[in-house]
Amino acid sequence: MKTNLFGLPQQSLEALVSRLDMPRYRVDQIMRWLYRHHVTAIEQMTNLPQADRRALEQITEIRVRPPQQSLTSSDKTRKYTFETDATDLVETALIPEGKRMTLCLSSQVGCRVGCRFCATGAMRLRGNLSPAEILNQYRSVPERDQITNIVYMGMGEPLDNLNAVVDSVELLTSEHGYGLGNRRITLSTVGKPEPLARFLERCDVRLAVSLHTPFQEQRRELLPGTRGYDLDQLLRILRDRARQDARRVSFEYVMLKDVNDSLEHADATARLLAGMQTRINLIPFHPWQGNDMLPTPAARIEEFRARLEQRGLIATVRASRGMDIEAACGLLATKRPPIAPVVVHG
Ligand code: SAH
Ligand code: SF4
Repeated sequence: MKTNLFGLPQQSLEALVSRLDMPRYRVDQIMRWLYRHHVTAIEQMTNLPQADRRALEQITEIRVRPPQQSLTSSDKTRKYTFETDATDLVETALIPEGKRMTLCLSSQVGCRVGCRFCATGAMRLRGNLSPAEILNQYRSVPERDQITNIVYMGMGEPLDNLNAVVDSVELLTSEHGYGLGNRRITLSTVGKPEPLARFLERCDVRLAVSLHTPFQEQRRELLPGTRGYDLDQLLRILRDRARQDARRVSFEYVMLKDVNDSLEHADATARLLAGMQTRINLIPFHPWQGNDMLPTPAARIEEFRARLEQRGLIATVRASRGMDIEAACGLLATKRPPIAPVVVHG
């Protein structure tokens, strides 16, 4: 397969242009064609000399893909399915909410963290997405130009695919990429300390940390992929971050009936996050077939929320969107790769 020019990190593009003996300003020209004019073929880069276009075509191509399928929920949430280079499938959710239009990107096919309540986790990990496959979910949705916010909250644990995620964030935010504001992008993660620290060094976007319980042992049970990690170490990194700018860190907490929704949990959560001036988003659990966990009733969620607020935290309840098309948090799961085309020999 030829190198994909779309989604190629700027540094790699610079190296390529220099290897082909082209002037440095070709990089800016190519990026403008890709991310401002959304061209689908090198031939369309009309301010590049023919010879340069031919040289690029020898070794590169532009691989962008339209969605294979789209579903619309009764609440107007949409779910798009894209094919990957490995002919697997990945899902993207688009959530209109008043003046906002949020796109929920996937970073992996499946996930190896294996959270007990998550349908993506139940798939296990089938593959990492490349920067191009992550970006294509933005590039190729029909509503692209209306999108106001991007969240890395779809399939996968973004920090388990750190380099591709960082490259995609850079192309979304850089001047020669899509030029989106850092504050419009949120990365959601279980927060493994070591890759998190590396991510924070390289990207300055908002962070949503999936906490789900204040108790280390229970967290290891519910989020098996965090077994080797220490909650205190994670909180230390986040406190440092929150000191720099409190608005950039928030927490997520899926409400599981009789598992993590007691007032003791609320009190311990408030203690854990004390002094951080952060926000915690309570997510109603979305049940799915094959999983026997139950959602906390709405009245109990409200009680939990009020208790957190009494203890000094800002707590909100996230509206469930796209339930009927399985586009809601934790329900994204692609069942099987598309059937390969039948090749008839002779
Ligand atoms: N891997 C990252 C991002 C993708 S999951 C993370 O875990 O943060 C995005 C959010 O959906 C997480 O907060 C996750 O806990 C939540 N989630 C997973 N399964 C869910 C379910 N069945 N119902 C509600 N929320 C769920
Ligand atoms: Fe992976 Fe996030 Fe699902 Fe956990 S909740 S299995 S980390 S996608």
